[in-house]
Amino acid sequence: MESNEFTDIKYIRDSKVSCSGNHWSAHPLIYLDLSSEEIVSCPYCGQRFKRK
Ligand SMILES: [Zn+2]
Repeated sequence: MESNEFTDIKYIRDSKVSCSGNHWSAHPLIYLDLSSEEIVSCPYCGQRFKRK
């Protein structure tokens, strides 16, 4: 709806996660480091990830 800033967090059971976006044409496949156990935002699509 109107929640651009409040993207749902995806919980990952790994210290690394790949993100390639879903419908974002300018989104390369990247890997984000979750080893800090803090919320990490993808710089391309803003998807937030956190280690489970
Ligand atoms: Zn992304």
